[in-house]
Amino acid sequence: MQKADLIIIGAGPGGYEAAVEAARLGMSVVVIEAARVGGTCLNEGCIPTKCFCRHAEVLEDVREAASYGISCGEPQLDMAAVVARKDEVVARLVSGVESLMKTPGITYVQGKARFVQPHVVGIEGGNELFEAPNIMIATGSVAKYLPIEGAHLPGVVSSRELLSLTQVPRRLCVVGGGVIGLEFAGIFHTFGSEVTVVEFCREILPNFDRDIAKRLRTSLKKRGIRFETQAAVTAITRDDVGQLHVAYDEKGKAGECVADCVLMAVGRTANTASLNLDEAGIAYTRRGITVDEHYQTNVPGVYAVGDVNGICQLAHAATFQGFHVLHRICGAQDAIRPDIVPAAVFTVPEVAMVGSTEETCREQGVTYRVLKSFYRANGKALSMNADDGLVKLLVDDAGRILGAHILGAHASDLIHEVAVLMNLDVPVSRLHDIIHAHPTLSELLLHLA
Ligand code: FAD
Repeated sequence: MQKADLIIIGAGPGGYEAAVEAARLGMSVVVIEAARVGGTCLNEGCIPTKCFCRHAEVLEDVREAASYGISCGEPQLDMAAVVARKDEVVARLVSGVESLMKTPGITYVQGKARFVQPHVVGIEGGNELFEAPNIMIATGSVAKYLPIEGAHLPGVVSSRELLSLTQVPRRLCVVGGGVIGLEFAGIFHTFGSEVTVVEFCREILPNFDRDIAKRLRTSLKKRGIRFETQAAVTAITRDDVGQLHVAYDEKGKAGECVADCVLMAVGRTANTASLNLDEAGIAYTRRGITVDEHYQTNVPGVYAVGDVNGICQLAHAATFQGFHVLHRICGAQDAIRPDIVPAAVFTVPEVAMVGSTEETCREQGVTYRVLKSFYRANGKALSMNADDGLVKLLVDDAGRILGAHILGAHASDLIHEVAVLMNLDVPVSRLHDIIHAHPTLSELLLHLA
């Protein structure tokens, strides 16, 4: 039996960042990973999709070149080259994390971990056992498939498979208008697919500010993406010529989308199947492993961070939950605010948010006022040909910032200025005294009214 101060199961952004930090703090750490270090984020999530987003951006820029007085022919996309560049970027980052796993204090074990006892973990197919007073489960999530006929037909894929397609499908049907679905809808539309998004809810991006989501849908529609909202997909069938027929019920009316490829983007579910949680008496629900406000499970010393606890399925949330657990283990305090987690959608235009939405304020009976500033009045935005967008701030009676919602170019960068102000509890009135460089998109925050 090998003993350590901490066992971490899963080397995604929740697990690997915590492992390095724990070693830095002087702990002996065993990291167990079943597949490749980096987890979903590096291998089949954040990074590969952002590579694809960049390809789409370049393609779009070349297509628009004539409007800048630059003439070049119709650009051709080599999908195999797109996938190869993505693989190269991923390999570089994975190799960086592999090096980090050699940090003194870390023992890296390749294999699938399963609980033998509450504080003892074994490896599937092996005899070695590991024991620690503290265990961090960071096993992430897996793509969900709708429980309908045809959900597993050839051509119906999850985001993982879509990232390896070497041919652009002529028609792509995206089932689910959440973050992942919309990013792929935007990418493949730019790559040349005819894209239809079928969403069950009344509006896309159900957890985002409704007004911003509606504006994004309008922008994407203008670009040529089709949307069917309040549409419940009921079955998928494949005809003789290999076309996929996605049947849906739209407010009581039957509809159909014919496609060559269907992306299932209906959410992700906690990855707990292989862990043998019952053996260790660790409580979980369909949402994920049950944890308290410090990410501790019902078994003292056993924690669950990241996608596997179902609280917030974002890479940086996983990382900071992991850091918080380490601080708890060391008996240290930290100032991490789990309620201030920026989130971004890498569509064109981008969307980003932090804090409360108008909907959550109303649900919680919080009074708020809305301040707005528009990209069309910002010099830098116009110079970039990016006048579509706005910044929207929600503030309370005392001028405290409750939330921010941005639609527009570089929203994913701009949101952090507001996140900093919220973390430091700076009232919105102070913003006007903070000198911003000109001409920048950041000036949008100076002109909120
Ligand atoms: P993961 O990254 O999933 O890592 C879990 C690791 O645990 C995996 O490596 C897995 O192999 C391992 N594992 C599982 N079971 C075992 C076991 N029994 N034993 C040993 N190892 C095990 N988030 C963002 O913040 N920004 C984005 O832009 C973004 N884009 C995304 C795009 C896509 C297409 C997808 C699918 C996700 C995206 N996400 C994004 C979400 C992000 O990838 C996840 O929130 C993040 O990876 C969660 O980190 P984690 O450490 O909890 O789990």
